[in-house]
Amino acid sequence: MRVRLRKYQGFVQFTADGYQCQTCGERNTGAQHYISQTHHIKPRFVGGPDREENMLVMCPNCHETIQAGAMGIDYNTGRTHHVDATQKINGMKIIVKHKIGLEYVEYKNKCMYQGSFLF
Ligand SMILES: [Zn+2]
Ligand SMILES: [Zn+2]
Repeated sequence: MRVRLRKYQGFVQFTADGYQCQTCGERNTGAQHYISQTHHIKPRFVGGPDREENMLVMCPNCHETIQAGAMGIDYNTGRTHHVDATQKINGMKIIVKHKIGLEYVEYKNKCMYQGSFLF
């Protein structure tokens, strides 16, 4: 895990100021860089590339949520959608300075709501 994070540290620094989570906006004040995690929107094991367009910086909570298939991204509005609309994260505007690839978001959204840990 730490090796991977080190590999993506440049991406995290470029993309997310102060390691801010790009979905909930949470900034882990005073924490070390390992609190921010790099998420591949389309997982690498199904051919998702190691490119910025396929990556998001997330806090551990949001990362766990999206990996569980409980959260997706509406590409057109740039907002999150959670399977439970009462969750605070639902409908939040994602904070991105880089371009996100539509094909990866579409893949991700197809994998939602199935309760499988694909990501
Ligand atoms: Zn978050
Ligand atoms: Zn992930």
